[in-house]
Amino acid sequence: MNFMILSVTAVLVAVFIIYWHFKFKFVFPLESRLFLIEGNLSKFDGFVKDIMEHSYVPDSMEHYSELVENCLIRLHKIFPDACIFTFEAVNENWKLINCLNDFGDRFAIMSDYRWDVFDRAAKTSETVVVENFEYDSANILVKFFKSLNLKYAAACPFGALEKSSRWIFVFASPKAPDYDRLRPFLGFLISHFNSLYAFSSRVVHIVKENTQMKDELGAVLHELDMAGTKLIQRAKERKALYEVVTAVTGEHRDRKIGCAAVLNIVAKIAEADVVACLLVDETKAELAVQPGAYGIQKDESAYYRVPLSDTASSSVRTFLTGKPFISGNAQDDPDVIRKYACLWNINSLMVVPISLYDKTIGVLRVGSAKPNFFTNEQLEFLNIIADELAIIIEIFRLYDNLSKTAEELAQLNKIKDDFLSTVSHELKTPLTTIKGFVSVILSGEVGQINEQQSNFLNIVDQAVNRLNNLISDLLDLSRLSGKVEMEFKMTDMKEVIKHSLDNMSFKAREKSIKISASFDEDILPVHADPRWITQVIDNLLVNAVKFSKAGSSIDVTAHNKGDVVVVGVIDNGPGIPHNEQKFIFEKFYRGKNNAGLVPGTGLGLAISKSVIEKHNGKIWVESKMGEGSRFYFAIPAAKTRKNESRVTSQES
Ligand code: ADP
Repeated sequence: MNFMILSVTAVLVAVFIIYWHFKFKFVFPLESRLFLIEGNLSKFDGFVKDIMEHSYVPDSMEHYSELVENCLIRLHKIFPDACIFTFEAVNENWKLINCLNDFGDRFAIMSDYRWDVFDRAAKTSETVVVENFEYDSANILVKFFKSLNLKYAAACPFGALEKSSRWIFVFASPKAPDYDRLRPFLGFLISHFNSLYAFSSRVVHIVKENTQMKDELGAVLHELDMAGTKLIQRAKERKALYEVVTAVTGEHRDRKIGCAAVLNIVAKIAEADVVACLLVDETKAELAVQPGAYGIQKDESAYYRVPLSDTASSSVRTFLTGKPFISGNAQDDPDVIRKYACLWNINSLMVVPISLYDKTIGVLRVGSAKPNFFTNEQLEFLNIIADELAIIIEIFRLYDNLSKTAEELAQLNKIKDDFLSTVSHELKTPLTTIKGFVSVILSGEVGQINEQQSNFLNIVDQAVNRLNNLISDLLDLSRLSGKVEMEFKMTDMKEVIKHSLDNMSFKAREKSIKISASFDEDILPVHADPRWITQVIDNLLVNAVKFSKAGSSIDVTAHNKGDVVVVGVIDNGPGIPHNEQKFIFEKFYRGKNNAGLVPGTGLGLAISKSVIEKHNGKIWVESKMGEGSRFYFAIPAAKTRKNESRVTSQES
């Protein structure tokens, strides 16, 4: 029994001992290892979370380096005994760019060098672990590590650059580290750095492309902007030119007013304070400021004259060389005469030549009180305006000459009219005497004359008649070109025509010509001087009879046409060549075919035209060679005026 108890007890003790032995030997170490691993895992977990929370995609290499450094600082916090270095591959060497431990001055000498461990790690992109540096103690870096009491290192490459890595971070420690614990941290960091690098390289590339595109876009926008500004400038210039041309072709017929208009426009466009045109006075060899300058007050001194010998003057130089001049600081510019710049109170100045037919005739001066105000583009535009101005000046010069010539002509015309009128009167009186005495002698009242004497006297009588007609026509013309007094009254055109037909009946009968008349019954009355209108119809009938063959017929018509009465004298004569029709109403014009054959003065139609125009009417001819001529005149019908009035022809 006791034996049994003893045996059971011994077995229990043995089991107990075996159990605890087993527990101490295997379970406890495993448990503590598990605990450690759990602890490590939770640290690693926290580390990864922390890193990820503070991560971002860097958009530049500076940000990438910053991020790498932050991650390594976090690693260092977990392994405070370790030293963490970062190296960068530079020209086949390795450069220490960061160190997480303060090593003072020694850090400064750690610059470019080589270590095959790094080359291997970089080439394979694999972490290389070095335990005890004994094998390579000659290497300067190894020496340095040793001097810091570091014996173990793991070189971790990251940031693939073509076929090798660009950076290496070195985890170094004096004691052999727990690589099992360390490996996940290093592995995570390397892959994190690599993926960040891949991302950031892409982002950097995109940012670069973006910046480049932005720059290009900016350049294009700038170009567009410039083009827009230029277009606006061109549009302004075109408008200015248009205004200049309008000013010139407008009513300004006075040189001073016309120039002033152009200078005003230039001032507006250039935003100038003073614009003046200086023209050369060749007789005095001077440039003279012309009247009409813009911005010059009544102070006469501003209208100065500069001798062409004064080459200190920018105006003279521009005039002599034909080269435009620009200054942004006229009052202190040695190339400008200070006196004139001060006189006009200008700081910015442009001077361009005014040239006509390749000859410089003056200069255009544009000034502003603001310094550095004008641009080279404005100078170019001013050149164009100066060309326009030259034409304007020339137009005005020609116009001045024309006006003078017109005045002289008018004067001469008046002298001629006065002369004609006087001479005609002087001629008419003796002619009347001659005609009177010839008639008396021909009548036989003063004694019998023989046949020859009678023939001679008849020739004298006809010559006197022709001379008389010519003088009458000249007198009429002279009166019509002056202030002839017409006696306008309500006139019945039928009566006037009948009167003319009576006048003409003798001459028509002489040539056996039949004159017939046809009118509208309700022919409108006209407001006319019947004496002058009778003369017009007489002239037309005289011509018709004169140019028609004996035995032919002539028609006189009168019709209402709207508000006018149209009178026609139609013959079957030779007709008038087309090229002569426009001349026959001119004074002294006689048809080429009849001059010398048919008597006449060439004044009848000119007088008729003048008379009709004084009645606000129109006279014209329709004719074809061989088919006769149709002369018409039209005068406005008098609808409203019932009473007679007496007005001068000029007023009518
Ligand atoms: P004149 O008859 O004295 O020559 P006019 O001024 O009356 O001067 O006429 C000018 C010219 O017009 C005439 O010389 C003639 O050539 C032409 N002419 C005028 N009327 C007629 C007409 N009825 N038939 C042909 N030619 C005419």
